Amino acid sequence: MRFSLVAETLGYMEGTTKRLELTQHLVDLFKITPPEIIPKVVYLLQGKLRPDHEGIEVGVAEKIAVKALSKSSGVSVPKIEHEYKKAGDFGQATATILEQKTQTTFLKEDITVERVYDTLFRIAELKGNRSQDMKMKYISSLLNDASPAEGRFIAKIITANLRLGIADYTILDALSIAFTGSKENRSLLEYAYNVCSDLGRVAEAVAKNGTEELKHFQVSVFSPIRPMLAERVKSPEEAREKMGQEFAAEYKLDGERVQIHIQKETTILYSRSLENITSYYPDIVEKIGKAIKAKDAILEAEAVAINENTGEFLPFQELMHRRRKYNITKAVQEYPITVNLFDVMFVDGKSCLDLTYKERRKILENIVTEDAFARVMPMTIVKTDDEVEDFLENAINSGCEGLMLKQLDSSYRAGARASNWLKLKREYRNELGDSLDLVVVGAFYGRGRRTGKYGALLLSAYNEEEDTYPSVCKVGTGFTDESLDQIYQILSDKIIVKKDPRIASGLEADVWFEPEVVIEIVASEITLSPIHKAALDQIRKGSGLALRFPKFTGKIRFEKTPENATSVNEVMTMYNNQKKVVQAEKQF
Ligand code: ATP
Repeated sequence: MRFSLVAETLGYMEGTTKRLELTQHLVDLFKITPPEIIPKVVYLLQGKLRPDHEGIEVGVAEKIAVKALSKSSGVSVPKIEHEYKKAGDFGQATATILEQKTQTTFLKEDITVERVYDTLFRIAELKGNRSQDMKMKYISSLLNDASPAEGRFIAKIITANLRLGIADYTILDALSIAFTGSKENRSLLEYAYNVCSDLGRVAEAVAKNGTEELKHFQVSVFSPIRPMLAERVKSPEEAREKMGQEFAAEYKLDGERVQIHIQKETTILYSRSLENITSYYPDIVEKIGKAIKAKDAILEAEAVAINENTGEFLPFQELMHRRRKYNITKAVQEYPITVNLFDVMFVDGKSCLDLTYKERRKILENIVTEDAFARVMPMTIVKTDDEVEDFLENAINSGCEGLMLKQLDSSYRAGARASNWLKLKREYRNELGDSLDLVVVGAFYGRGRRTGKYGALLLSAYNEEEDTYPSVCKVGTGFTDESLDQIYQILSDKIIVKKDPRIASGLEADVWFEPEVVIEIVASEITLSPIHKAALDQIRKGSGLALRFPKFTGKIRFEKTPENATSVNEVMTMYNNQKKVVQAEKQF
């Protein structure tokens, strides 16, 4: 298949942010794609080579890409750099340079999707001293045969700058329409995706066998499952309304969610957003096997930092020390953890997703031999509000954030946020209720003590339907000097020259960022706003929703992707809940 067809689609997609149009362009492309290369097309559309959790990145430094372009076009490096500066985008600069070249050359080999993909894959696998030269060679040979339109997207992909942000759900919609004839079947595709987290695998299945294979999609070890999520409740009464009289209450520890995959001698760990985090937790890899009696298993646990002398749980921030590439052994010694297992999704060759909570819990208790490192999450079955209150009190006293409440007869609903799991935190009972996890999309320069750094950040919620990031507040409080420095550094390589079209705000930030970094915010209230764009026109025409008195809690949610941030729908629910409370108070 010619790569120009993919480049053409990407070009159309650049020109629109309307989801329906984006989907239609994808449908048109999928319909003419041979089934065996559809995974490659799906990955390339998102600027990837494999699903994120496999950690395969093209990762070419811009310097090398510039040199490769120079080699294939005969244009000098300084000239290319000048063009790059002018265009503000390496893809565009590549297209311009290749345009000039096209006028002077004639014959070219057609480049295919397979060739682009395979070359990029080879580049991604190159390591060691001579790898830079080889990378350059591969890239320049591709660019040599590329048309300006193709070169534009190849350049963007190799430098990880394909900023189209085509959401997984847009791709699932398009696959459903292209291969099953309607969007109706999307839930089947979504199920398969939730179970394996690999869009390429789902695409191939539906392209080859329609809906048939999707219905029997199998869980397998080392394919991470998209985690089941919880809704918030503010009180035991509200939980009872949602779940009935009897349910399970578990401790809710404040650590990092870890999905543990074990088979024979191999253990792989995935984060909440399914990043492979095995290297941060060599202690889990070393010790967990001893605690699990099973040939193979997929388990979920909360890894929590502890004070080994007192056994006390320490706050989430302590786990940040594990996020380093070097000297991890030292971090393991200095910041020890415990692993608190709370679910099992697969054991001894069989999926447990369709079993009830009660059945899964029983299996979990049977296969885990508890020790000082690995434990089963404390749980009790509760029947009255008082019992919930008592257990909550115990949990808080033991250093937990609150409780997770789980319906006894519910299956494991991969990727869903549903009322079969509820979270009850102590602080939910006042003010806004919950904290929000928001995406940093822009910043404003500081003054006084903050000169040279950012004085305030512009934050957005995530709009799942449109795959956009409408702003909800500007936050300048809650930062310490240390956290401000840390954030400044983290954001320094997310700066973009032009605002990403997915960001919507009435405020003009001094600096715009790639929507990637997620931080936690508390606020006193949600109000209507003419400036912020979350839920625009939903509650009142011309107004969006904004947070009043937002404050940074100190938590950078490094384990969350921007798509995992608080959604616009959640902000709306919080606004509506708050309205109910206000009305109830007025009546009172
Ligand atoms: P999300 O609900 O999107 O995961 P979040 O991480 O902000 O967002 P939290 O309010 O922290 O949500 O609650 C859910 C998280 O609580 C889980 O992702 C998991 O990391 C953690 N957790 C702690 N104890 C448990 C437990 N017993 N069962 C399930 N999750 C638990």
